[in-house]
Amino acid sequence: MTGCHPPRAADPGAVRPAGRPSAAGAGHAPPAPVRAARPPTRVPGLPVQIENGPRNGRAVALTFHGRGDPKMATALLGEAERAGAKVTVLAVGDWLDEQPAMARRILDGGHELGNHTLHHRNICALPAAEAYAEISGCADRLRKLTGTIGSWFRPSQTRRATPLVTQLARKAGYPHVLSYDVDSHDANDPGAAAVQRTVLDSVGPGSVVSLHLGHAGTVAALPPILDGLRRRGLRAVTTTELVT
Ligand SMILES: [Zn+2]
Repeated sequence: MTGCHPPRAADPGAVRPAGRPSAAGAGHAPPAPVRAARPPTRVPGLPVQIENGPRNGRAVALTFHGRGDPKMATALLGEAERAGAKVTVLAVGDWLDEQPAMARRILDGGHELGNHTLHHRNICALPAAEAYAEISGCADRLRKLTGTIGSWFRPSQTRRATPLVTQLARKAGYPHVLSYDVDSHDANDPGAAAVQRTVLDSVGPGSVVSLHLGHAGTVAALPPILDGLRRRGLRAVTTTELVT
């Protein structure tokens, strides 16, 4: 691996979730294969903490805190797919425990999946051992469900990781921490029009936009946001596509 973008045609294919019962399901159809999540990659030339991609391109990354009502999450992914957009979902580990099918739904849509800690605690305020358990606990869920620890790590309840959290993320297997440069403030439920305005007023080439699953205003704001991006000649792509 050189860090260059591998050819899309050579999709790594599918893996089965680890740890499935070997005999208990005999006589029943095996679980459907889960598309493998792209593992984390160190991207040469990128800082350890990524806030944005290239400013001279035409791509942006819409990145979502992954938690909340799965129907709303599915509706949002459907809106993205109708517009030909790809997104990045940073899943909270305890959400994956409750909604394991969402990992497959996200990857099957061609989107990217990453780690947003196990319980979404204030990770930068935790002692090292507890912070590491938050990172590795979510990584374990992702590995079990998808075959890898996910493409990216984003710390919880903070925009930027402390040096300690960055170091712990690297220890857990994530060479970069995914921050962002555009905050939609959608988690405050200001209404779809306000979310749309906040994003489109700030977004530009290379932006990494912070958004949240589980908020109706965000689902409603997504189509006009994608339309606004298109009018500016910008495309919503996975974070990996943005930075590699
Ligand atoms: Zn979050």
